[in-house]
Amino acid sequence: MTKQINMDQQLVYRFGGGRADGSQEMKNLLGGKGANLAEMAGHPELQLPVPPGFTITTDTCNAYYEAGRHFPAKLEDEVMAALERIEELTGKTYGNVNNPLLLSVRSGARQSMPGMMDTVLNLGLNDETVQGLIAQTNDPRFAYDAYRRLIMMYADVVMEKAAGIPPVQGKGIRKLLDEHLEGIKKARGFELDTELTEADLRQIVAHFKAIVKREIGEPFPEDPMAQLWGGIGAVFDSWNGKRAKEYRRIEGLPDEWGTAVNVQAMVFGNMGKDCATGVAFTRNPGTGEHKFYGEFLFNAQGEDVVAGIRTPQPINEASKNTQSENLQTLEEVMPEIYAQLNNYQQQLEAHYKDMQDLEFTIEKGKLYILQTRTGKRNGTAAVRMAAEMYQEGMIDRPTALMRVNPNQLTELLLPRLDAMAERAATPIAKGLPAGPGGAMGKAVFSSEKAVELRQAGENVILVREETSPEDVDGMYHAAAVLTAKGGMTSHAALVTRGWGKCCIVGCNGLDINEAEGYFTTPDGAKVKEGDYISLNGATGKVYLGSMPVVDVDLADNDAYQTLMALVDETKVLGVRANAESPADAANALRFGAEGVGLFRTEHMFYGKGSEKPLYLLRKMILSANRKERRAALKELFGYIKSDIKKTLAVMNGKPVTIRLLDPPLHEFVPHDRQRLEELAEELAVDVSILEKRVLALHENNPMLGHRGVRLGISYPEITETQVRAILEAAAELNMEGRQALPEIMIPVTCSRNELQDQEKIVKCIYKEVCASLGVDEIPYLFGTMIETPRAALRSGPMAEIAQFFSFGTNDLTQMSFGFSRDDIGGFLPIYLEKGILVNDPFQVLDRRGVGELVRLAVERGRAQRPGLKTGICGEHGGEPQSVAFCHRIGLDYVSCSPFRVPIARLAAAQAAIQHPRQ
Ligand code: ADP
Ligand code: MG
Ligand code: MG
Repeated sequence: MTKQINMDQQLVYRFGGGRADGSQEMKNLLGGKGANLAEMAGHPELQLPVPPGFTITTDTCNAYYEAGRHFPAKLEDEVMAALERIEELTGKTYGNVNNPLLLSVRSGARQSMPGMMDTVLNLGLNDETVQGLIAQTNDPRFAYDAYRRLIMMYADVVMEKAAGIPPVQGKGIRKLLDEHLEGIKKARGFELDTELTEADLRQIVAHFKAIVKREIGEPFPEDPMAQLWGGIGAVFDSWNGKRAKEYRRIEGLPDEWGTAVNVQAMVFGNMGKDCATGVAFTRNPGTGEHKFYGEFLFNAQGEDVVAGIRTPQPINEASKNTQSENLQTLEEVMPEIYAQLNNYQQQLEAHYKDMQDLEFTIEKGKLYILQTRTGKRNGTAAVRMAAEMYQEGMIDRPTALMRVNPNQLTELLLPRLDAMAERAATPIAKGLPAGPGGAMGKAVFSSEKAVELRQAGENVILVREETSPEDVDGMYHAAAVLTAKGGMTSHAALVTRGWGKCCIVGCNGLDINEAEGYFTTPDGAKVKEGDYISLNGATGKVYLGSMPVVDVDLADNDAYQTLMALVDETKVLGVRANAESPADAANALRFGAEGVGLFRTEHMFYGKGSEKPLYLLRKMILSANRKERRAALKELFGYIKSDIKKTLAVMNGKPVTIRLLDPPLHEFVPHDRQRLEELAEELAVDVSILEKRVLALHENNPMLGHRGVRLGISYPEITETQVRAILEAAAELNMEGRQALPEIMIPVTCSRNELQDQEKIVKCIYKEVCASLGVDEIPYLFGTMIETPRAALRSGPMAEIAQFFSFGTNDLTQMSFGFSRDDIGGFLPIYLEKGILVNDPFQVLDRRGVGELVRLAVERGRAQRPGLKTGICGEHGGEPQSVAFCHRIGLDYVSCSPFRVPIARLAAAQAAIQHPRQ
């Protein structure tokens, strides 16, 4: 939808000389750069030395397209009037042979957008005006250098890229001109551009023009007005260039925005030793420290600082790094200018109330500010700036909380590779950065080896072609996971993300030989089992050798503590953790969990220390009859009780939701002959009989098979044993002076009758335990998971019995979509690519479908039982968008893996700010 330009609409907004037509509020119309230039130039509190100029509005861009790429009729008059104003302010005239004004043309959409047109500097130069520039500056070398730069930029940006013609000779005009320049330097035996003489540069200008004409088929425009309009048109055209369109598609930005064009008087940082150009931040963007930070180059123009041709110098002591520690600072060389710049940066930050990223140029001892914008920052810096700006009284609590993207907290929570060590090393491979943080350990190629070495106290990194559910134990024990295949939603990426474990996937240069235990890299490096490697999960880089991994200590991080205190004052939604061991629970508390939202009893049968309980469980599963089963359960009882008791003890005073046994029994039975024989002996039956029992447990579709509440109904003694363990553990803790708050949760239910059946067992055991331990009361809740669509629909009747609902959104997603979680790899990437799904529904809760079921179940459940407690557990509980949804539909809490608890807390606080609950 393109807007029509009406007659009285202003198309051109001027700035400079202490005044501006626009302001920072006008980003939509003037673009980000233009709005900020206007603000800096014209706001009474600022009135900074911004070279004068004007901004052509985004509406003009839209009108340009509407008219089939023609400028609106009245644009010319407005541009000419604005140009005159620049001429007045600078005392120079555009296109004038004696005293020429030079201009820059800069693009500027609402958001900074890679893919938009690059800036063209020095517009207005030609064979005649260059003489004027020589007269003005008394520096012919400088003048010809500026001229050859203009030809190069103009040919590249305007004549080639914006015009959309294919790169000449396959490499593009800029490269071609660059090669020519290098050729001349080489012929003269020069190393640096600065060695070229005036005569050289004059010759280069002539050659450049000839090359442009020959290669592009059109001459470089000598007419300054043609240059200006060519530049303006090119900015507009770049809005619909391939790169810009691609970027908008990926970022979901609308085509209707259009771009503004900024035209501005040139100032020169490259006119000699008293000239410089630089980039600075009002606070350190890497650490967040409240210190002015920046880099600059003497005698340089435009983006030389960013281009990295020369090592930039630090503006002050605080900006020194290992490369620049011996260089002179701006503060040392030009103390007055530095003081002025320091003043401006303070003004800018106070004005915008956020960290600013600014560009400055010093021309012959005079300072100019060319740009300001809100600076990008990493997670560590974001937290520190938000907390400190709040403490300084610069911003209020909601603003501070909205400043940090919850996912950025991840950076603060994880151990990472020592930055110094990493800088000194060269990566041997690079993959997709699936999991944050860093890790170091011995390479291993199988899950078993990972567990074995880990139990022997070694740090290991599991290297696999790709991972599958069988690798989970090894992944759990590994410090990190590295896979050659798979994308950001592969099994390895998903599982490790939940744990906050470092992971690199899709490292497709690796040639992995799992059987023989080694991999080779594209460069031929060979890493064998037991060799140390180090991974940076934030960049996807893999290093050979062991690098120090530095742990983070949140207790020491004042900024984090300050921010999280604000979080807790603000959020309404509770945040619990999924934990299945005392260690998990302790971690959860450290991260601020208010309870355990999911404790899976079956966890005790996996991994370290599980041999004996697993053996007993198997005995129970393969029992021939109820009597044998009861006997096995009796032996198992002590293990279950102590397992639960330990976690309840750690969570003292906080609720712990304990889910009764959920997986299909077949998952636990031994599949190797030796184990089966041992069991057969113990149960005094023949192996063949046992084999038959194992076979009988086999199911075609175990996900939808004999599991969850169905086990408890067909084998009531399984429920009895677990409930007795929970209640005894709780009662004993209470007698020891602690406060246990168990919540007994029945999994995979879909009807009221199932719950009633199980409740009867619970009530009966409750009486027995109270009587046998001689207590009057053991506080507990009885509730259910809602993880089938039918349960969501029948939540009203189910709430007659359940005191709480916990939405198992993993299974609920699986069953609502009919997508098997373990098998989506085949089609999900295609769905995402074609836009059939916007997100992976296992990562971001599907609000329209699955979320609607949750909302409805809460509504029906609460209608039946007003005090019904509701929460979700599963991957979504730690995902910010999903957390926000849970807040909006009025859940009591979300539960997620311990390490995602801070992320969920911040997301909950932000949701409370954006959608206050009545
Ligand atoms: P970007 O969006 O890439 O930051 P800019 O428009 O800021 O592009 O310009 C690129 C470079 O050119 C910057 O270093 C900027 O400071 C410099 N520049 C832009 N306009 C002028 C000008 N009028 N005088 C001097 N340098 C300029
Ligand atoms: Mg740019
Ligand atoms: Mg810039």
